[in-house]
Amino acid sequence: LTQLYAPLNFLGFVYREIKHALADMERMFGLISENREVQDRPDAKVLDTRAADVRFESVSFSYEPNRQILFNVDLAIPAGKTLAVVGASGAGKSTLSRLLFRFYDVTQGAIRINGTDIRDLTQDSLRHHIGIVPQDTVLFNDSILHNIAYGDPNASFDDIVQAAKAARIHDFVSRLPDGYDTQVGERGLKLSGGEKQRVAIARTLLKNPPILILDEATSALDTRTERQIQEELNLIARNRTTLIIAHRLSTIADADIIAVMDHGKVVEQGTHRELLLLNGRYAQMWQMQQVAEETGGPFS
Ligand code: ADP
Ligand code: MG
Repeated sequence: LTQLYAPLNFLGFVYREIKHALADMERMFGLISENREVQDRPDAKVLDTRAADVRFESVSFSYEPNRQILFNVDLAIPAGKTLAVVGASGAGKSTLSRLLFRFYDVTQGAIRINGTDIRDLTQDSLRHHIGIVPQDTVLFNDSILHNIAYGDPNASFDDIVQAAKAARIHDFVSRLPDGYDTQVGERGLKLSGGEKQRVAIARTLLKNPPILILDEATSALDTRTERQIQEELNLIARNRTTLIIAHRLSTIADADIIAVMDHGKVVEQGTHRELLLLNGRYAQMWQMQQVAEETGGPFS
């Protein structure tokens, strides 16, 4: 009987954890769980690519009927390139990432990957191609090992250690008495913001997605930790199609394209250099942050 009980108990555990994980995903995107409007079309295609060209074509969107959030947004991220989106809080930046992950469908226009409207793809295959590092990573009440393995349930222990090393969390984990079996989350060891982001990076490295979304991934960290984590993020963004939503402009000055959003519209777009020459909104934001960094203001 105990032989039977163990796997059943494990199944119960898996079920609870999956439910928990889904709840966390939703919380992470600030979603309300009744949102189930997105469904696969009967003839939905399976996305299968390592080089994803992502385009927002005249995308408009409203969460609620009488409040439009995005207005004719045009953005292009060629395969392997990085697009940074900046702008005030509430401008609609995170909404872009929720639409790309297809938590919602666009109201007008289309998001295409390699020319295919994402509404014509299966949600599973689409989401399998996208890795997300959010502002606050939620750890499951489980071991560090399982928290990393969540990126790829088929990963071997060696793969997990490899990912942890690349995310520079391996040494920290190795020094813990229980190592990779250390329980974390609300009921376990509390990790610092930086350590949690490293777990998220290891997860993402293990998932190895061609598309990466970094939504203010370092904005909850102190300046020193932010710099370190940013270096790791730049490494994992290399050769992936990356949408990075950034708070501190100095972290995205190297992006291939920078788009400035304001009240749901793209108001400026170009490289850091081009936008400084334009001497508009971006240049103004850049100047303000430079001053703030020198005087130890809110952005330093
Ligand atoms: P940003 O990431 O630029 O700070 P968001 O994309 O999160 O902005 O939000 C853009 C606007 O959409 C905000 O006004 C926000 O209140 C609104 N919004 C975000 N999520 C929802 C939602 N689930 N339902 C209704 N409105 C929302
Ligand atoms: Mg946001």
